[in-house]
Amino acid sequence: MKKVDVFINGEFRTPFLNRYFPVINPATGDVIAEAAEGNEQDIEWAVESAVKAFRETTWAHDKELRFRVLNQLATLLRDNLDELTELESNITGRPIREMKAQLARLPEWFEFFASVLKTHGTDSPPFSGDYINYTQRIPLGVVGLITPWNHPLLILTKKLAPALAAGNSVVIKPSESAPVTPSILGELAKEAGVPNGIVNIVPGYGAVAGKALSTNKNLAKVDVTGGTETGRHIAAAAGFNLAKVAAELGGKASVLVLPDANLEEAVNGSAFAAFIATGQTCVQGSRIFVHESQYDEFLERFVEKTKGLKVGDPQKLETDIGPVISEKQYRRILDYIQIGKDEGAEIAFGGKSLDGKGYYIEPTIFKNVHNKMRIAQDEIFGPVTCVLKYSTTSELIELANGTDMGLAMSVWSNDIRQAHNLAGKLEAGIIWINDHHRIDPSSPWGGFKSSGIGLENSIKCFEDYSKIRNVIVNIQEKSFDWFDGSAQVKRYS
Ligand code: NAD
Repeated sequence: MKKVDVFINGEFRTPFLNRYFPVINPATGDVIAEAAEGNEQDIEWAVESAVKAFRETTWAHDKELRFRVLNQLATLLRDNLDELTELESNITGRPIREMKAQLARLPEWFEFFASVLKTHGTDSPPFSGDYINYTQRIPLGVVGLITPWNHPLLILTKKLAPALAAGNSVVIKPSESAPVTPSILGELAKEAGVPNGIVNIVPGYGAVAGKALSTNKNLAKVDVTGGTETGRHIAAAAGFNLAKVAAELGGKASVLVLPDANLEEAVNGSAFAAFIATGQTCVQGSRIFVHESQYDEFLERFVEKTKGLKVGDPQKLETDIGPVISEKQYRRILDYIQIGKDEGAEIAFGGKSLDGKGYYIEPTIFKNVHNKMRIAQDEIFGPVTCVLKYSTTSELIELANGTDMGLAMSVWSNDIRQAHNLAGKLEAGIIWINDHHRIDPSSPWGGFKSSGIGLENSIKCFEDYSKIRNVIVNIQEKSFDWFDGSAQVKRYS
């Protein structure tokens, strides 16, 4: 069985308490690994190690080293993809075909941010008088990365690549449900040449290790992906310490099917949006809006499509829907299905759990849903979606925006003018037109409203992992002495 220890200053150690917790395979309920239960002391040591490495190694200053190492890390990731894919599928229950498609893209993040660090320049803002004025982009210092279980490697990579490219050192607190592959990424970073102490990893529970990390006074930034309530706690703690915060939080994505959409594409896209990763993604299409003239036909075709999805062993290539992550989440999703029924919505398909081992729930479609119902508002984080009816475009905009969340939405339409016009009126950080859940390291990712603050991906994210120093150089021929009484010129200090 795999054992995940605390990783500090480039070496694995037993945790301070010498306690470990089980990591469960959700497809079987079996324990597949045990992970260190890091506590406040482990976090303290990890942050100390990160501070020391930031100050004493050349990492923060040596761009050439960072460029080489990040590209080497991309290569090592590619070499290890098969092992990582199988492990991550076993730990999250995510079907192997999806896992392969996702993890194959990870090296791109290290390559993209390596290129950014090599090419991103700084400004020379104009300055009055005989002065040369320039800015330097420098790393922040020690950054805390707190990550969820649903895409353990992808989300860590989205944070780690820009953090390292910008020259920071990091302390990672991976999810207690999926700490195994993040630990392997730490080892690969070391093998790629990241100096000891620049990457530190402390597995453990959110309320203990996560809290200790987010409240640590030596952090310059905390970057978290998780639920909205988790994000509020972390942002408040970081705010108190005047540390920067990026928070990628919960979602409740709307899928907007316009009357001119290609219905088959919209049905296929909605099935993907609703059921990829067994519905356990922050951008899950959990609110599908269909025009009243097409509602019945869409629903019939959507149910037919969903019936064809294969629920089963995530390790089999033909599987479309795996188990949900844990018993706790399994019970919560089934409770929400009951809440939906109690609220008066009707099940168009699914709604039940599967007998036998593992935390399996059928892909579930609710019809006759009202926008104010809890199933249309709360993030369920499972294979449950709602199909809602609208009659006019203005009503559609109001309904789609009628949630606290604002991470992502998709618009399905063949009318270019209408689709773009609508995109400009939707309250979400990411809008896809005729697609859903597309992502690229170069393209900004971040939520509006209660879905978070700050960004992942893109040059903007690299900039957010650094700070600016302004250097003002006096090149006047004459030396300056204010107190000789001759200076009458304007001066702003
Ligand atoms: P979670 O909020 O339970 O945990 C996320 C991380 O925060 C874990 O490492 C956890 O241990 C830690 N944590 C929990 N409480 C903490 C506290 N008080 N202080 C410090 N750390 C704490 O989330 P999860 O169940 O792992 O992931 C699912 C959630 O993540 C969903 O809400 C989903 O929408 C969201 N998510 C968002 C995005 C995005 O890009 N916006 C992407 C993926 C997942």
